[in-house]
Amino acid sequence: MDDTTILADALAFHGHRCWASTAGVRLGLAAMRALGASRAGAKQLHAVVEIGDHHGGMCFGDGIQFTTGCTFGKGNIEKSREGKFAVTLFDKASGRAVRVAYRPTLQAQIGATAFMRKRAAGVPASQIPDEEQMEVVRLVWDAPAEAVMTVGPVEPRAWSEPEEVVRFAVCARCGELVAEPYLRVAEGASVCIACSGYPQQG
Ligand SMILES: [Zn+2]
Ligand SMILES: [Zn+2]
Repeated sequence: MDDTTILADALAFHGHRCWASTAGVRLGLAAMRALGASRAGAKQLHAVVEIGDHHGGMCFGDGIQFTTGCTFGKGNIEKSREGKFAVTLFDKASGRAVRVAYRPTLQAQIGATAFMRKRAAGVPASQIPDEEQMEVVRLVWDAPAEAVMTVGPVEPRAWSEPEEVVRFAVCARCGELVAEPYLRVAEGASVCIACSGYPQQG
């Protein structure tokens, strides 16, 4: 698949066109190429993306998920919650990793676009005309690589993770399926967190 098709598919998956998802696609592809990895081999990859919660530009994470195949559903991506636009991609099989960071050289230009001025005024991205969305995408997509990212060295770095728990149980109160580590004991019965009345843990 050529890069233009990957971008189009990634934006379709994301649901709108924006600078941050486009940056995620470019940086994700760069990280994959630095490691010589393919999305079909995503099982051997793990991504740590530095975005946080409840801030602009989290769309970056969708570009990373789409290009690396590391997804929240598979559990091979996580946020470090630093509010930054960078990703460290680990190749578990070869014990190597690379960090790719977004460079903010274009932020003034991006901020001056009709898309970003409307977003700042509270207009949802989905209500901004296609051509105004594409202007922001093209700024990030067509810029020279060195203007939008810093690709770090590929370094030996192992990724170790806890073993996946594959046991499930049925909550004694609501009858719904629960992964075993999330069961709680309340009044002598094994129940889900919601039925236990205990506070949720992060
Ligand atoms: Zn977005
Ligand atoms: Zn329950």
